[in-house]
Amino acid sequence: MAQCICCGNPISPTFWVCKWCERAHHLDVPFPEWPEWARQANRDEQKERRWEARMMVAIPACEVPGIDRLLYGEDGEFTEDGRIPPIPRVVRVFS
Ligand SMILES: [Zn+2]
Repeated sequence: MAQCICCGNPISPTFWVCKWCERAHHLDVPFPEWPEWARQANRDEQKERRWEARMMVAIPACEVPGIDRLLYGEDGEFTEDGRIPPIPRVVRVFS
């Protein structure tokens, strides 16, 4: 979840700071004019959001067949035009 880089409150992922912090810290100016602490916090938050976008989801072993059908269709491993489909962002949990 996206957070304000100043106070940590949840915000829309299209923003870096909440309205309150934008006013309180005078961040309603173009990014290059932000103070260094805010630009560093922004870089940290960008890394955090990129990491969250890559996060994997663990699924129970009993759900793997259903997920495979969703990803690959009933016919198995290849797409209709013969390519191997992209690697799914899931982790298989074998029991
Ligand atoms: Zn804030």
